[in-house]
Amino acid sequence: MRLITRNDASLVVGLIAGTVVIFQRPLRLVWETAWDVQERYHVDLLPALTIFVGVFLFHEARKRQQAKAEALAAAAEAAQARIRSAELERLMTFSQALANVLDPTTLRQALWRYLPAFVGEREFWVLARRSDRWEMLLQEATATCRRSFEEVEAIADRAVSPETLSDARLAGIVEGDVLCFPMIAGVAVGALGIHDGTAIPGDQRKALGVAIGLIAIAVRNVQLFVETRESSLRDSLTNCFNRHYGLEALGRELDRARRSRQPLSILMFDIDHFKAINDELGHLRGDDLLRAVGAQLTRVLRSADVRCRYGGDEFLIILPDTPLIGAQQAAESVRRMMAALAMVAGGKTIPVTVSVGIAAAGSAELGVTTLIERADDALYRAKRGGRDRWHADGGPAASVAALDPQAIGPAATGVGGP
Ligand code: GH3
Ligand code: MG
Repeated sequence: MRLITRNDASLVVGLIAGTVVIFQRPLRLVWETAWDVQERYHVDLLPALTIFVGVFLFHEARKRQQAKAEALAAAAEAAQARIRSAELERLMTFSQALANVLDPTTLRQALWRYLPAFVGEREFWVLARRSDRWEMLLQEATATCRRSFEEVEAIADRAVSPETLSDARLAGIVEGDVLCFPMIAGVAVGALGIHDGTAIPGDQRKALGVAIGLIAIAVRNVQLFVETRESSLRDSLTNCFNRHYGLEALGRELDRARRSRQPLSILMFDIDHFKAINDELGHLRGDDLLRAVGAQLTRVLRSADVRCRYGGDEFLIILPDTPLIGAQQAAESVRRMMAALAMVAGGKTIPVTVSVGIAAAGSAELGVTTLIERADDALYRAKRGGRDRWHADGGPAASVAALDPQAIGPAATGVGGP
């Protein structure tokens, strides 16, 4: 702590003046003695002393100035170090958040939370690339208002194109007011676009570059995780979900239907006389048929419907938000789609048909097993009724008699097929 500061100058002058007044006699004695010494020994003591004092004061002033400059430089360095350490901490927190990300939703949440600090609160968008297609992972409402999705895609395409990629990785590409960086994790996995991004200072860009590298790894991780999980949940032959996933999904949908008081129906269908097809045409052609059924289901059902291979030639379809009447229409679509799968062998056409059992969940539906049993029972009845048809177990709340034949088409009136 300093006892005397700049503001105390008048006090110091007063003190010096007072001291001189108090000690004027001894001082005069020292002065006279100095004169005596000069005279007696013939030396210029006083000018020499004056020069010494002057040089000493000048030297001290320079030392003080130098020390001040050093202190200022140290303070600036410390401020830089604090900024770097804050940046490093931000990057560490971001990387920790991304390390816990395994699905697109948590990835979006982490990006929303941490990315704005790296882009200086500018508007931005993030695209993810999967199977040569772009998907919008994150977008600010205002950022996309400025440009259409097609324009954003075109910018991202340019950022990951082989001609610009190596430069774009370091400096990004500039398209109008957008600065776009490719995101690379072995392969191009996405692109980040920042509006007014060219104004980002150099230092901030370095941290942004590291953040983009982390995002790229997280996007790749999520893609691989989703792909692995999906392939473990899917049947490789038909690409439908497997039985295990189907039962789990049905449990979830039943809970949701109960909570939201929305209808839910399921279909169980089984290929008619599939064993005969296998025997006549061989198992490989049988497999082809199962594969074709899986592909056709994607065409005739809504994307929200869950398609599962329940086992062998039996399929379970979960129809969320669908009442009995809608399920009957879906069953009829499935029954009709089989006509397109007729097999040709030795010049003759072997028709392919299915039997379908329908069950609609009642408002107090107890559980997955009961609902499956009802659909299975309806399927059994459809088989017994002559195959190539659907049968609905409407439960106590609805009955097949309530079905409007016009809504279904002429091929299925009541419980029957054509
Ligand atoms: P139904 O009309 O009563 O259903 O007669 P079906 O001959 O279809 O009888 P079922 O459904 O019981 O027969 C299923 C057959 O499906 C038995 C089995 O050989 C065959 N199968 C099961 N899984 C596969 C598979 O992955 N590939 C092939 N090619 N055949 C399979
Ligand atoms: Mg069968």
